[in-house]
Amino acid sequence: MSQTTCIPIHSRSRGLRLLLGLLFSSGIALLAYRRRSLDKSGVAGAIAAGTGIFGMGGWSWALSLIYFFVSSSLLSHFRQRDKADIAADKFSKGSQRDLAQAAANGGLATLFAIIYGLARSPRTRRLAQAGFTGALATANADTWATELGVLSAAKPRLITTGKPVAPGTSGGITPLGTAASSLGACSLGFFFWVWQGFRKSLAPMPLIALISGMAGSLFDSFLGATLQAMYYCPVCETETERRIHRCGTRARPLRGLAWMNNDVVNFMATACGSAVATGMIPLYCQRENMLSIHLPTNGRR
Ligand SMILES: [Zn+2]
Repeated sequence: MSQTTCIPIHSRSRGLRLLLGLLFSSGIALLAYRRRSLDKSGVAGAIAAGTGIFGMGGWSWALSLIYFFVSSSLLSHFRQRDKADIAADKFSKGSQRDLAQAAANGGLATLFAIIYGLARSPRTRRLAQAGFTGALATANADTWATELGVLSAAKPRLITTGKPVAPGTSGGITPLGTAASSLGACSLGFFFWVWQGFRKSLAPMPLIALISGMAGSLFDSFLGATLQAMYYCPVCETETERRIHRCGTRARPLRGLAWMNNDVVNFMATACGSAVATGMIPLYCQRENMLSIHLPTNGRR
């Protein structure tokens, strides 16, 4: 008998899936690079996330990532000219995403996919599934809120004090941005559920994604208004996330922690979304949890 027949079937199919994931995500990332949605380092990040999520999670996981990626790329190009001034002035980076942004938005989701792929117990898998949904729902909610909220006719208000701020200011929220964020969060959970074939046990996913994504996104705004590093350009007399303002002037620290840049804020927001989503598991798995308490040694579950 040859050695290969001893390899368990699932690990062989996982190898194939990882390879397919590598091929698909390379194709999509290179397309995004040509469309200027990603820079070179962002391509590497997208390929790593895509390979891990498709290889370890599967189709529904990968399609959720693609949904996030494509919808946020399309939205960042939507009415780009109207947003150009605000984006260049306020945001630390343009619409081209780099590795740090990819890791901040997709790092936790990838980690949960890997946990899911390696997990043996249904409980760990459920945890990973919820964590993945919460992280990606937050990233989606946040991107939609940023890309659409910046177009709001109503002036944004700071989430902490309610004080009106200029469009694009970190921590500023608008009704349009909040609506976009809830739609971004809920739709991500909905599509994950659709691609899981409307599995009954996952029916609460759109609701979990809505709540966890909104929580993560609001946490993002809260950090943006409080701890995120903000600078002030004395020449242009404006607030910015950039250390070197686009006019070339070194902006001076205004508030926040120096290391708490936009990527760190995004990462912490996805962590918050994951925590909320996993915390909601007992609400919809109560019956199963009770069963596992009563039948602790029944190894068949
Ligand atoms: Zn300036």
